[in-house]
Parts: sequence; C-alpha cells; structure tokens
Amino acid sequence: MSNVSTPLEDQVALVTGGARGIGRAIALRLARDGAKVAIVDLTDHGADAAQDIERATGRATTFVKADISKEVEARTAVAATEAALGPVDILVNNAGITRDNLLVVMNEADWDAVLAVNLKGAFLMSKAVMRGMIKRRRGSIVNISSVVGRRGNAAQTNYSAAKAGLIGLTKSLAREVASRNIRVNAVAPGYIETEMTAALPEAARNVIIEQIPFGCIGNPEAVADAVAFLAGDSASYITGAVLPVDGGLGI
Ligand code: NAP
Repeated sequence: MSNVSTPLEDQVALVTGGARGIGRAIALRLARDGAKVAIVDLTDHGADAAQDIERATGRATTFVKADISKEVEARTAVAATEAALGPVDILVNNAGITRDNLLVVMNEADWDAVLAVNLKGAFLMSKAVMRGMIKRRRGSIVNISSVVGRRGNAAQTNYSAAKAGLIGLTKSLAREVASRNIRVNAVAPGYIETEMTAALPEAARNVIIEQIPFGCIGNPEAVADAVAFLAGDSASYITGAVLPVDGGLGI
C-alpha cells in the first residue's frame, strides 16, 4: 500500500539530465515523494544538484556522470545507480538537446546529435534498466516528449522527429512489457521556463505566449507534478499514455 505523504518511499528513481531545468525539478519532486534519486547527467554540475536535493529532502541522492547517447555509458550509469541506491524502479528519460535550423540548412551533425540524445538515449537507458525490471516484475518509465512531437514545429525537424519518435517508443514498449507489470508513459510539455527556452528572442516568446490558451509559459514544477503522478502507484492502470503539460497549446 502506498504512503500518502511519501508515495515513492523505498523506490529508486533515475532521472537523466537531472542537473538543471525540468530534470532537476523532477529529481527534487521524486525525492520529496520519498524516492532515492540518481541524477545522470553530462557534466559535473549534477553533483551540486544531487547534494542540494539530498539536503532539501533528506533522501539519498547520487550523481552519475554519463553521456546517455552512448550505450556503454548508459549501461554503466544504471550499474552505478544500482550500486549506490539499489535496483531502479523508476526511469525518467528527460535528457534532451536542441539544434534548431531550417531543414535546407540543417547539417547532418545537428540532425544526428538531436536524435542521439533525445531518442536513442531513451532507448539505451530503457534497455539498460529493462532486464532488472522484468526480473522484479516491477517498473515505471516516463519519457519527456514535447508538444512539438505531437504538432511539429518549423526549424525543429530534428527535434520534433525525435520527440514524435519518443511517443512511438513509449507506446510500443508499453505494449511489450505490460504483462511484466512495467508501465511506460510520456509527458509532452509545452513551453516551459528553463535555459532551453530562455534563449528565445523576446519577439518569438511573445508570439508563442499568444498561442497558449493559458497565456503564459509553464514552470518545470508543473512537468514534475505530471511525472510524479505517472511514475507512482496513483497511475497503476495507466500505460502508453502521453500526458500534455502545455497550458492548452496542443489542443
Ligand atoms: P535543459 O535546461 O537544457 O537541460 C537538459 C539537461 O540534459 C542538462 O542538464 C544537460 O546537461 C542534460 N543532457 C544533455 N545531453 C545529455 C546527454 N547526452 N547525457 C546526459 N545528460 C544530457 O533542458 P530542459 O528545458 O530542462 O528540458 C528537459 C527535457 O524536456 C528535454 O528532453 C526537452 O527536450 C524537454 N522539453 C523541454 C521544453 C521546454 O520548454 N524547456 C518543452 C518541451 C520538452 P548539461 O547541463 O551538461 O548540458
């Protein structure tokens, strides 16, 4: 039976790209809900994030440095997490990058980089946790897609292809592993206040805000709330779902 105030008590959560932005808010929220959390991130600032979260929540939080787009590093990151905290119950595939450009001038490297982190990274991390989850007959994966994976966006063919691919991965894997009591869901954020969106010029930002029914950009905590719901037992009969967190942008 789940504990109401700490519904993720005794669970281990791994959050990729958890050093900043949405990933950090997710890691903090899952720790507040009682989980032990591993932040898997590219650079060392993940160590500060892990320390801050452990201090704020009292939950064991660890940092593992890894590039999740590389198979060996993805496997090693899961092994290091399990050595530090125990078997992974919850995987949040959040790490993502953008390399925006119009298709006619987009180079191959920018296409490959975005697909490698946003889509292949989720495949590699999911594969790295899957045998353990199947063996334990327990697990929950939440993939961070995007409203542009559902609707498309000019100058983001690489990013929207990766995010749409992530929705396909979510639904197919959900079908594959449902019989093993493993759930796979996605969250599709709209525009959320992070360093990724801070780079937007004022004019572009205003155009976007005009299109959002709620009339404002969202905050990372709104995405973290949705992830916490899908990750935990409150969503025990939900799999293959794509939950928009976008102020109505994707309607
Ligand atoms: P962010 O602020 O740029 O943070 C991304 C994090 O991912 C960073 O900590 C980054 O590490 C890490 N990362 C990048 N490549 C990695 C790799 N190969 N291996 C491990 N970690 C890696 O992004 P965000 O805005 O929080 O976005 C988080 C997720 O939400 C992404 O998947 C993004 O596509 C999605 N999303 C964002 C928005 C939005 O409006 N912000 C909307 C929809 C969806 P470094 O700091 O070392 O670079």
